[in-house]
Amino acid sequence: MGGAGLMLNQAMTARYDVIIVGLGPAGAAAAVELAQAGARVLVLAGPPGRAKPCGGCLSARGLDALGFLDPPAWLADHPVSRLWLGFPGAPDVEYLSPRPGAYFLDRGRLDAWLAQRAVQAGAEVRPQRAREIVPHQEGFVVRGQEGAWQGRWLLGAGGAGCPVGRGLGLGRSAWVFAALVQERPMPQHLRPRLAEAGFLELGGVPYGYAWAFSRGEVLNLGLAGLTRQGPGPGGDLARRFQAFSARLGLEPAGAPRGAAIPCPDQRRPRLYQGRAAVIGDAAGLADPVLGEGIAQAVVSGRMAAAAVLAGDLGRYQRRAEETLLRDHHHARMLARLIYRAPRLFHGLARRRPGGVELGFHWLRGELAPGDMWLALARGLLGRPARLDPNRGAYYISPLG
Ligand SMILES: Cc1cc2nc3c(=O)[nH]c(=O)nc-3n(C[C@H](O)[C@H](O)[C@H](O)COP(=O)(O)OP(=O)(O)OC[C@H]3O[C@@H](n4cnc5c(N)ncnc54)[C@H](O)[C@@H]3O)c2cc1C
Repeated sequence: MGGAGLMLNQAMTARYDVIIVGLGPAGAAAAVELAQAGARVLVLAGPPGRAKPCGGCLSARGLDALGFLDPPAWLADHPVSRLWLGFPGAPDVEYLSPRPGAYFLDRGRLDAWLAQRAVQAGAEVRPQRAREIVPHQEGFVVRGQEGAWQGRWLLGAGGAGCPVGRGLGLGRSAWVFAALVQERPMPQHLRPRLAEAGFLELGGVPYGYAWAFSRGEVLNLGLAGLTRQGPGPGGDLARRFQAFSARLGLEPAGAPRGAAIPCPDQRRPRLYQGRAAVIGDAAGLADPVLGEGIAQAVVSGRMAAAAVLAGDLGRYQRRAEETLLRDHHHARMLARLIYRAPRLFHGLARRRPGGVELGFHWLRGELAPGDMWLALARGLLGRPARLDPNRGAYYISPLG
């Protein structure tokens, strides 16, 4: 946060109701909600660059969360109903769900469409990086390379290193997935196995997993491991990535890209202060089991936007605690269980492949992580999980 006593050149400072820093899924969702409600919205989107490193796996509940934007059909071009669950040196478990749990998509294309929706809704988007945030008696002044802008409200949606979160000490998280990802042409030998299927491998990465996802001609390969040491995948992760590629029979193909996925490490992280709030990865809201964060970014963006429109960001904090953060609390326990004993978990799935359906229920928003314990117990007894169709309702209507 810059010095509060900084002199402001009022003539150069355009005024907005809301300034949003960052135009990923969180920033775009908030921008659409706010602009559609008539707010004057400025989004500082950062300079255009390469697509965000991502597995490109949109859960079915994530697709629901995007429903308010009237999503194009291509988002669901690559549905995933089949899952292979691997463990190095053990036979893979194959599971086919009656309905897709997720969709594999091109992340660059998703973000470009989201940005377009924000503009269509009436938000002003500038390809500027926010550099400094200065509190002001009427809100905040945000400085970029080529100007300064004044907003009554401020939403930090700049991802893991968002200057709003850093500057205000909001959304800090000690649970971070260090992740590596690479996209390459789909090799012939993996095509039949990965058609409409995902491959997840446990046990090759400490406290994490590796994946192979298919989008027809494109193979998305990656791994993620939870660390308490903060972002930045180390050399060890790169070595594990090469070992995983080799297990899939792939030749080395350049260096994978790395990035951090922050997850909540407590039940009530501070998400706002006065008229500023953080959303999405800036708030550390990715799921602690898989590092899934697109759906959570969209939902938190919409919740924060509604709270701004109501004039009280405390509503956003409360709503997030009742929904996303409540689920994440249980997801953290589940992550500990799975990643401390990946061999046991893989062995359980081998004995009862039907138990993998619980993961599909979760991805479809039919089973909250808090209900997972009872469902797991029932699964061990060979009984189906009790589902509540309203469990994931806040992915569709975050204010419900
Ligand atoms: C390797 C990897 C794989 C992943 N795979 C998946 C997956 O398969 N499925 C899934 O659901 N999630 C996945 N995630 C997590 C998911 O990508 C994030 O949770 C999600 O992108 C968060 O959205 P966001 O809008 O909060 O932040 P981001 O998507 O990170 O967007 C932030 C935006 O803000 C911009 N920005 C940053 N700083 C500034 C600044 N100072 N000024 C202006 N703009 C700024 C950035 O350029 C960026 O455009 C993955 C993450 C990683 C790293």
